[in-house]
Amino acid sequence: MNHYDSIVIGAGHNGLVCATYLAQGGQRVLVLEAADTPGGLAAGREFHPGFHASVAHSVNHFSAKVASDLNLAAHGFEAGADGHSIVGLGTDGAHVVAGAGALHNASDKDTAAYDEYSALLGRFAKALEPSWFRTMPRIGSLAVGDLMTFARMGLKLRLLGKKDLQEFMRVASLPARDIMDEYFEDETLKAALSWDGLIGSRMAPRSPNSAVLAMLYRMSGQAASVKELVNSLSGAATASGAEIRTGAPVKRVVINGDENGLGVGGVELASGEQITADRVISGADPQTTFLNLVGVEHFDIGFTNRIRRLRCNGLVAKLHLALDGLPEFEGLDRPGGRMIIAPSMDAIEFAFDDAKYGQCSSDPVMEVTVPSLDDDTLAPAGQHVLSAHVMYVPYELKGGWTDAARDGIRERAIDTIARYAPGIRDRILHSEFLTPADLERDYRVTGGHWHHTEFAMDQLLMMRPTYGAAQYSTPIPGLYLCSAGSHPGGDMVGAAGHNAAQEILR
Ligand SMILES: Cc1cc2nc3c(=O)[nH]c(=O)nc-3n(C[C@H](O)[C@H](O)[C@H](O)COP(=O)(O)OP(=O)(O)OC[C@H]3O[C@@H](n4cnc5c(N)ncnc54)[C@H](O)[C@@H]3O)c2cc1C
Repeated sequence: MNHYDSIVIGAGHNGLVCATYLAQGGQRVLVLEAADTPGGLAAGREFHPGFHASVAHSVNHFSAKVASDLNLAAHGFEAGADGHSIVGLGTDGAHVVAGAGALHNASDKDTAAYDEYSALLGRFAKALEPSWFRTMPRIGSLAVGDLMTFARMGLKLRLLGKKDLQEFMRVASLPARDIMDEYFEDETLKAALSWDGLIGSRMAPRSPNSAVLAMLYRMSGQAASVKELVNSLSGAATASGAEIRTGAPVKRVVINGDENGLGVGGVELASGEQITADRVISGADPQTTFLNLVGVEHFDIGFTNRIRRLRCNGLVAKLHLALDGLPEFEGLDRPGGRMIIAPSMDAIEFAFDDAKYGQCSSDPVMEVTVPSLDDDTLAPAGQHVLSAHVMYVPYELKGGWTDAARDGIRERAIDTIARYAPGIRDRILHSEFLTPADLERDYRVTGGHWHHTEFAMDQLLMMRPTYGAAQYSTPIPGLYLCSAGSHPGGDMVGAAGHNAAQEILR
């Protein structure tokens, strides 16, 4: 029998989460993934013989609810205790570390301020957390369910108390720079703490928008190993009865019907094979889904225009280094945690300024990890992998991306790391640099965008990706979305996959 209750396009982590909930709910589910392995941007890639990395290199806030509902522990998932502490690297070997709710190597003033700052943001994050796992109400809807969701969200915030609520309203849309300046004095610390408000978005410390919201989004959930998460999600999907087919790119979603009404019939693969289903759930990004897989002829012009206008140009590149030994960072016994190379918030701002005009910065800022320290299968014995998120590398480079342009920014990124780890160049066996344009090609994500489309006020909550498709359903009955491009957004969280499945099962 070649008919399914649901077909999920893409075995990214959200597609896998959605498929597993649907299969647990009794549906016959097929997941179709274009790549040869599941995991999407978190899938492992061998970038040099014996050396493995994944584009998404750390899981910092995966949903505890999803992990428990899907019984991921039975498939090898383990919540990490360390929580991938943030290490702000100082050029003089003086580093500041924020982890496990405390600050190390900071001034007394900053340490005291951090306690107050993290307690306040912790309360805000807790109040917001349930909203990440709910379908957002439709704007203007008087349906009981939508009104209840509005009421619950409001009540949760109201329970913060008057003083905290006033403060929440004040800081929620502050530029990262303002909130850091209010609390802290050390420039390296401010840059490191603002990182989670900025990474993956088209924002720098002075941008007013959603930096504080992004920080709060990233303050719930659990840390874990990327590889274990992907393996456990694949294991849970299969155990629940969902079928996963890799190497199976979907060419188009089959739409049936006429002017009296459209509906989903299934999908056609690039191979020409057709598979029918009652519904199709896309784990691909919204522009890919609506413009490429479904086709604009099936939507009204207003909806199509809103989808075309989504901002999807990524700004994060990936550097992978195969090293013949452990890199030595001055002042660190062990290069653990997420090491932030950004000496000040101005350094971040200047790097962003270059990208605004289609250029790569001469002083890139970045987040560096050594994942092979926690997983010795990623590199041959005694050797290591260095993985870095390099901000802000434009999707559209002025003059276009050429090998020379890619080599140029790769070498500048390595030179920048070498300021903190002077011997690193002698250890490099191989390097790989993936621009957002490369990520688009290799991972089928429009613009190579971290969140599939910008994480910004006009594209968040009941506007994500746009009204008319913000509740996981779409203008075409039977067609749903479940990726980072839907509420609440990207990162390895599982919320969009969870919410889409709940909406369908309802
Ligand atoms: C450079 C970079 C670094 C990142 N680092 C981190 C990090 O360290 N930590 C973190 O939490 N997040 C990180 N992210 C963000 C995170 O990777 C994404 O938000 C997350 O992967 C989104 O998951 P998803 O399941 O929604 O989509 P994806 O992971 O993008 O998966 C979508 C899947 O759909 C498949 N697909 C698309 N089209 C088709 C088709 N036609 N047919 C079949 N299959 C198709 C794709 O092949 C892919 O497997 C990073 C993102 C980038 C770009």
